Amino acid sequence: MSSENTLEQIASEVRVCILCDLHKTRNKAVPGEGPADAEIMLIGEGPGFNEDQQGRPFVGAAGKFLEELLAQAGLERTDVWITNVVKCRPPSNRDPLPDELASCNQYLERQIAAVDPKIIITLGRFSMGKYMPGVKITQVHGQMKRVGDRFVIAMFHPAAALHQAALKPAILADFAKLPKLLELAHAELNRSAPAAAASAQQEPDDDAKQLNLF
Ligand code: URA
Repeated sequence: MSSENTLEQIASEVRVCILCDLHKTRNKAVPGEGPADAEIMLIGEGPGFNEDQQGRPFVGAAGKFLEELLAQAGLERTDVWITNVVKCRPPSNRDPLPDELASCNQYLERQIAAVDPKIIITLGRFSMGKYMPGVKITQVHGQMKRVGDRFVIAMFHPAAALHQAALKPAILADFAKLPKLLELAHAELNRSAPAAAASAQQEPDDDAKQLNLF
């Protein structure tokens, strides 16, 4: 099956999913969207009011801000795959519960396998926790970590930055760093690709040190 078909299959399962109680209060499930061959996947927390109405991720105020942040890095939302750790809106936008995260994780894992992004950008602490358990977002935001064949970059959630003015300069600065981080990720992935095995022993360069590649 092509990755487009796999993603459509997952989406059709998500739309009728009853694995956790969130299905009882949702209007529409929000599987996610983007080009099946996207190099970058963004993973947020969960649908809010507007997303639940429309069945699409990041279409409210946080989505508008996310589009501004992406533009700052020379990207458009149609360049990236966008989804959330939970696909149905938690009532009153409360935090997702552990059993909801666990139920939905299989869909997210299958989406990641189908898109096979080189870079995953986590938005907020719930998606960050999947790759960097036990760390504080205030300590690692804007930093990039290698996880297997991919790189994961932890960002503050755009909605958090909209509600807490003090976070806004940090999220703007982190997204402004994105082109450099993407360049670095490409260089590191090329360096460790089989064809480039001979140069794999090199020390991380100064950029990597400056950008806190960990
Ligand atoms: N916040 C999220 O985490 N995801 C959305 O889709 C919208 C707002």
